[in-house]
Amino acid sequence: MSSTVTKHVAVIGGGILGVSTAVHLLRQGATVTLLTEQGLASEASGRSLSWLNSAGERSTPYHQLRMAGVDRYRTLFAADPNREWLQFGGGLMWNSAGQSEVTKARHAYETSIGYDSRLLAPEEIASATPGIDASAVPENAIFNPGEGWVSLPDLVNFLMEEFHALGGRLVLNAGKASVMVDGGRATGVETAGGATYPADAVLVACGAATPAVVRPLGVEIPNGSPVSMLVVTKPVEHQVAAVMNTPRAAVRPNPGNTFALDHDWYEEHITEHADGSFTIPDDVVQELADESSRLIAGNPELKPASWKIGYKPIPGDGEPVFGELGQVPGCFVAFTHSGATLGLIAGELLSGEILTGDKHPMFATFRPGRFS
Ligand SMILES: Cc1cc2nc3c(=O)[nH]c(=O)nc-3n(C[C@H](O)[C@H](O)[C@H](O)COP(=O)(O)OP(=O)(O)OC[C@H]3O[C@@H](n4cnc5c(N)ncnc54)[C@H](O)[C@@H]3O)c2cc1C
Repeated sequence: MSSTVTKHVAVIGGGILGVSTAVHLLRQGATVTLLTEQGLASEASGRSLSWLNSAGERSTPYHQLRMAGVDRYRTLFAADPNREWLQFGGGLMWNSAGQSEVTKARHAYETSIGYDSRLLAPEEIASATPGIDASAVPENAIFNPGEGWVSLPDLVNFLMEEFHALGGRLVLNAGKASVMVDGGRATGVETAGGATYPADAVLVACGAATPAVVRPLGVEIPNGSPVSMLVVTKPVEHQVAAVMNTPRAAVRPNPGNTFALDHDWYEEHITEHADGSFTIPDDVVQELADESSRLIAGNPELKPASWKIGYKPIPGDGEPVFGELGQVPGCFVAFTHSGATLGLIAGELLSGEILTGDKHPMFATFRPGRFS
């Protein structure tokens, strides 16, 4: 164990990874300053499907980390199962017509690694999970009863109550903040306006902007972040409890009897403007709502209430990037796909690394040094 105990940590990025790590640091007695460009959850964490899962096939370390991620949410859920923003209603997925063998293979793989996975014929869906229009399922579906979903803006608000109670300092509207370095070591954070916040360690948790924030430090992290959209509907009566991942729409329940909708087929209809903003034609948004309606029992009319478009953080090789930069001691990064599933566990493990210097074995294959 390192003999130096880090006292003051500056965290850049007010998404789920920055907020979660900040709170875990405060719980362990650190002094924390959290700085973010605009408001909290202003980027990916404010427009995430946030399906909590480790479905399908991926590297074993990534699967194990995701399972630990789901575990931490289960602990939070058990403390109060009535929170409208964190629910474990399972996940239901299916593929297009003609792909029943692909679905079977996925189910066999999930079963082989002990992931709770049930292969269902359409007529078996109603007894497994409510509110689905089984006529939308062409051949077979997989129900994963252990999965859930979270509304990240609500989770961020929940964690920020603890952040303030534990005396954290929050700096909103910091603009594009940067890491200060002296003698090769991170020494704090400078806001776009020139205000400086000295610290013993810095965490860069800037979502899709993470590679750009560490580049001036001479560190290259490949960025594979695509543009994506999340639609939130107006309230509608429904019984759906599961997150649905289907060929034309991903749908999850959302607080206030609304739905959150996502997919990728409409990406070609998104236009990026010179000021960095994005637009999409209204009829494409409505088409996603109509596709989603077909999956829900009774096919209720879904009306989009809001939609947000921006980058979905994904490192270039698809695997998470967690830990200290070898080139810049004292500077840590958190940059990952599936940051909803990993939000609580990543904050827990990173805070331990930042405060003790002990490297957590679950991050062994996710070090930023793999790119250098
Ligand atoms: C449409 C969509 C669907 C998704 N679905 C799922 C899913 O089903 N399951 C799952 O687990 N995950 C999912 N994700 C991924 C998950 O939401 C993200 O991985 C997670 O929200 C990222 O959190 P973050 O804290 O890393 O980044 P962000 O939430 O993007 O936060 C980064 C913050 O840093 C700030 N920032 C950036 N640069 C600077 C700077 N220089 N100075 C100061 N502040 C800065 C930004 O303003 C922002 O507030 C999805 C994401 C999207 C967009």
